[in-house]
Amino acid sequence: MTTNSSHAGRVVLVTGAGQGIGAAIARAFVAQGAAVAVLDLDHERAALTADELEAAGGTAIGVAADVADRASLAAALDRVVHRLGTVDILINNAGISPKHDGAPAPIDAMDEAEWRRVVDVNLTGAFLAAKLVVPAMQAKGWGSIVNMSSVAGRTYFPSIGVHYAATKAALIGFTRHLAGDLGPHGITVNAIAPGRIRTPLIASVPAAVNEAAIQATPLRRLGEPIDVATAALWLTSADAGFVTGQVVDVAGGWLMT
Ligand code: NAP
Repeated sequence: MTTNSSHAGRVVLVTGAGQGIGAAIARAFVAQGAAVAVLDLDHERAALTADELEAAGGTAIGVAADVADRASLAAALDRVVHRLGTVDILINNAGISPKHDGAPAPIDAMDEAEWRRVVDVNLTGAFLAAKLVVPAMQAKGWGSIVNMSSVAGRTYFPSIGVHYAATKAALIGFTRHLAGDLGPHGITVNAIAPGRIRTPLIASVPAAVNEAAIQATPLRRLGEPIDVATAALWLTSADAGFVTGQVVDVAGGWLMT
């Protein structure tokens, strides 16, 4: 692994990092000299990703937790702080987008339990993780948080459900308000709104849905997880020290507002 040093000495917690965009973000931070906690619901996946990063010469630990469960998340954070000392950067990446035979349930067929689980994971999970790490960031007078929204939280996209769109839009309000509250403490809070990114999350939909997304994208391709990871690196770097409360679209020009 080529190691640079834009994030040397930083400790980064990435949620939902066992695969997909989160794993790419974990790799990118390790490549920039950070120590990374790979948090995932799936213990084995978290451990495998962390092992891969360690084998490549980085510092990483795998921790299992459900971001929607405060006790589980708090226990995971205790392990991270015990092993790595602190959390300087939080990437709220964990997210779910339930499908039924490759399609989201329309509102009349969506059961309340599914709605609540999506809100709990995608939105409350970001709240709980931020609530747990912010006190230490405030004490240090520095920290950075990135919330993974979606272009689907900014415009209509038919292949996701109303719960997913609602949570991704809410994360933008969460980001802006928290940025205002935490700015005086030297903490930046930004969001990334990816377009269609090639990960296991989008593998469950019919190929035509992804093809339609490509055709709606001026750059005429799906995004790769590394496209999102480089945005997360920049937003949490010293170069972006005066950037907060922003939503960065990583979407190939899909949405231009
Ligand atoms: P992914 O491939 O499904 O990976 C998400 C990871 O998060 C999985 O390893 C998953 O574990 C984990 N996770 C799910 N629920 C969790 C929980 N409650 N606690 C902890 N970890 C949990 O998804 P992705 O495509 O990389 O997406 C990552 C983020 O980007 C999500 O927030 C997603 O909404 C957002 N996003 C993705 C796209 C896209 O096109 N891919 C576009 C816009 C935004 P399990 O598999 O074990 O559940």
